[in-house]
Amino acid sequence: MLSLDQFAREKLTERAGQNLRRSIVETGPGDGVHVVRNGRTLLSFCSNDYLNLSQHPAVKQAAANAAEKYGAGAGASRLVTGSHPLYTQLEQRLAHLKGAEAACVFGSGYLANTGIIPALAGRGDLLLLDELAHASMTAGARLSGADVHVFRHNDVAHAQSLLDSERGTHRHALIVTEGVFSMDGDLAPLLQLSQLAEQYDAWLMSDDAHGIGVVGQGRGSAFVSSPPAIIPLQMGTLSKAIGSYGGYLCGSRDVIDLMHNRARTLIYSTGLPPAVIAAAIAALDIIEADPDYAALPLRKARDFTRSANLPFAESPIVPVKVGAADAALKAAQMLEDEGFLVVAIRPPTVPDGTARLRITFNAAQPDEDIARLADIVRTRIGGHA
Ligand SMILES: *Cc1c(COP(=O)(O)O)cnc(C)c1O
Repeated sequence: MLSLDQFAREKLTERAGQNLRRSIVETGPGDGVHVVRNGRTLLSFCSNDYLNLSQHPAVKQAAANAAEKYGAGAGASRLVTGSHPLYTQLEQRLAHLKGAEAACVFGSGYLANTGIIPALAGRGDLLLLDELAHASMTAGARLSGADVHVFRHNDVAHAQSLLDSERGTHRHALIVTEGVFSMDGDLAPLLQLSQLAEQYDAWLMSDDAHGIGVVGQGRGSAFVSSPPAIIPLQMGTLSKAIGSYGGYLCGSRDVIDLMHNRARTLIYSTGLPPAVIAAAIAALDIIEADPDYAALPLRKARDFTRSANLPFAESPIVPVKVGAADAALKAAQMLEDEGFLVVAIRPPTVPDGTARLRITFNAAQPDEDIARLADIVRTRIGGHA
């Protein structure tokens, strides 16, 4: 099909012209901190495996044992025969960690968001979304058919003004935000949003993909404040600090039962492999047993922002905004020449004109390397995170 390949080439050329073409680079096995790319060993500052648990001997062993005991795959969707006993254990553990009645594990974070939102909101409902909310939430919002309104990033007053003008003409309202913003590393004002939700009879959902394991003593962003923020819909992923794969929702028993009945990405998709679930359980064991270890990525991020003269880190994610896409690519290349792997994040992942380096911290990164990176960023990139 000539027209097909031509279409693909045109689209790619268009992207390349804007410095926005992406490609997948093979990244060799390493220890999670050192990675091999194009034959060179680099220090990685771009993984979301904040606690390096994907490499932890106990986590790997748990995965191997589960594969041995239950097999390599789940064999069917969870509603058929794919819900092996490890699922029950993991869901109880997640619910307990998040202080919720129940939990439901999905195939991935993306599948969770695209399943949960349409299961709760539809035509005639109001959906308020932070403007920086992850692509999977935007996708879920579109699939839902609800009226979607975007509020300025972390702007509670703007969200309130939208509720003032829109709440009355909609049946239900759902407010959706990230707990820790994935590209900016800042925290959502969850206490204020939960009060707002209460006041307007709106349901609050937070995506804690980057919070679980690393903030709030490992319990996530709702637990950073004291008392914790009351969030009836706590969503997240097992594929970042938990070091494995899968998504989850913690909520009331009724809400979770509703997911089993209405979330299409759960119902029509195969269960996760037993090894993946076993790894997540083993990771939770480590996080719960050793809160000091869970605190390391944030401590390292704060050491870095202090030395690099950047705003104080609120999470293990530190953005160094450089503006233009090509400037971000150049800065990333310069760091690679110095032995550091830091990816340039460009539109459409982030808004136009805010291309950046996204530096993430990991419990296993040596402090000397962090100090050297801070030095280079301060003297050769600067930026205004
Ligand atoms: C990574 C991410 C997801 C998707 O989770 P996966 O398990 O990788 O599919 C969803 N939301 C946010 C905020 C994320 O950063």
